Amino acid sequence: MTSNDAALAAPYYHTVGIGAGPANLSLAALFEVSTTRKIALFDKQPGPAWHPTLLQPGVRMQTSWLKDLVSLVDPTHRLTFLNYLVSTGRLFALLNAQFDFIPRQEYQRYLAWAANRLENVNYGVTVDRVSFGTGGFAVHSGSRVLARSEHLVIGVGSRSVVPDGLAGLPAGRSFVADELGARIDAVAAEPAAPVAVVGDGQTGLECVLTLLRRGCTDITWIGRHQWFETIDDSPVANDFYRPAYLQYLQRLAAPTRRRLIEEQRPTADALTPGALKVLYQANYDGMLALGRFPVTLRPGRDVTHGEPDGDHLLLHCTSLDGHETFRVRHAVIATGRRMAPIPFDQDLWDRVEADGAGEPVLEPDYSVRWKGLDGHKIFALNRGRFSHGIPDANLTLLPIRAATVLNAMFGREVFPVRDELCPIGWSPSGLDTTGLDSAGLDSAGLDSAELDSAGLDSAELDRAELGRIGAGTAEWDSAA
Ligand SMILES: Cc1cc2nc3c(=O)[nH]c(=O)nc-3n(C[C@H](O)[C@H](O)[C@H](O)COP(=O)(O)OP(=O)(O)OC[C@H]3O[C@@H](n4cnc5c(N)ncnc54)[C@H](O)[C@@H]3O)c2cc1C
Repeated sequence: MTSNDAALAAPYYHTVGIGAGPANLSLAALFEVSTTRKIALFDKQPGPAWHPTLLQPGVRMQTSWLKDLVSLVDPTHRLTFLNYLVSTGRLFALLNAQFDFIPRQEYQRYLAWAANRLENVNYGVTVDRVSFGTGGFAVHSGSRVLARSEHLVIGVGSRSVVPDGLAGLPAGRSFVADELGARIDAVAAEPAAPVAVVGDGQTGLECVLTLLRRGCTDITWIGRHQWFETIDDSPVANDFYRPAYLQYLQRLAAPTRRRLIEEQRPTADALTPGALKVLYQANYDGMLALGRFPVTLRPGRDVTHGEPDGDHLLLHCTSLDGHETFRVRHAVIATGRRMAPIPFDQDLWDRVEADGAGEPVLEPDYSVRWKGLDGHKIFALNRGRFSHGIPDANLTLLPIRAATVLNAMFGREVFPVRDELCPIGWSPSGLDTTGLDSAGLDSAGLDSAELDSAGLDSAELDRAELGRIGAGTAEWDSAA
């Protein structure tokens, strides 16, 4: 059999998704109710899992459970989180536990439950090459052609990065947060030895808490920002996480859009207040026992490089008022994540329009701008933070994005994307698409008696009630 024959013998799908994280699972879930055609996902993990190496004990989601794979566009879908709770018998236990935000482990179990109910979700296969030829795309793993397809969806997510200056440190002493679970016994075996956590994001905080729980008594938490900032989960911050705002962003010039999105960082890349409070209280308890705080927070430091020093490490930092060096036994690196590579072959990359950073340029419907043929489309999920806004990098609008992709893929409105009741006018008057007409008011359940008793004329009503309804919606939202 020639390699061409082997390719032609591989199963043919309407769409292949690379990666089976929440992004592509949401797409596959909504795909199954859109068409009788088939989608297949391929993921390199051995089985359903969601950031398994970062699943520290007790960690919580930063997003409401209503932000599941499907509910925002199809609340009657069989794979809602609510259906997961009911059909696995845990509804009342979870409700009565009264979580503000559910355990991350529960969300992972939900994802696994959903993945197991979808057809053609394949694990344990790394897609290392995607080519394009007659009939569409071919997805390869080593010498095997896994599948061919008409359309392609990239959902490869992100991976941890180590800053250059820390890259050469001994692996047993300095490691990324993903490895803490595997190394915690060795670290905790010397509880009084100094250990540093580098990175002031939520992952850094969760590593500090893990070290503290395991008895470490000399922890330095180093962050680049001038304080350890908590997430802005206010109603107005949540209005960035709405289809209406995403539509507005698409109307802006790229540099303006980028500036606005950068300013919105505290609504996503910041700490959960509850977790920070847990740290402060545990640190206070530790101080009562030890006579000093077991955790010292060191904000405003940029760790530029490190070097071995006997069986310790030296971490060199710049700060606002000079240089500083910390001598530690171990360093846990939690300095952020970068997008995982897209395994296009060179011929396919040559057809794709890329930006200055080598990333595919995305259209508003998440399709990749490329020299395709015969209507074949490529979509990329979680690659457009600065083109499509912060929600593209998190879970808040997964079904909205999947619906947008499916509408573009099938060339018809498979799922209406609705977001009419918005209290904020983002655009100059007349350009907003988010106004509310009298039919909308009726459907919001406001009758004329209520209006009279509130003593509002209709113009005031438009403003006041739109505001109330919008704020109510945001109460169950979460910014990230
Ligand atoms: C620890 C952590 C907690 C988070 N918590 C929240 C939260 O509470 N709320 C929120 O909104 N956001 C959260 N996020 C951010 C974001 O929502 C998640 O990163 C989310 O998982 C992104 O989904 P994804 O499907 O795009 O990527 P991923 O979940 O990263 O999935 C990508 C998948 O692609 C697979 N893959 C990659 N390359 C290949 C390849 N070549 N071949 C085959 N498979 C491949 C990977 O194995 C992986 O399973 C969190 C992020 C992290 C790291």
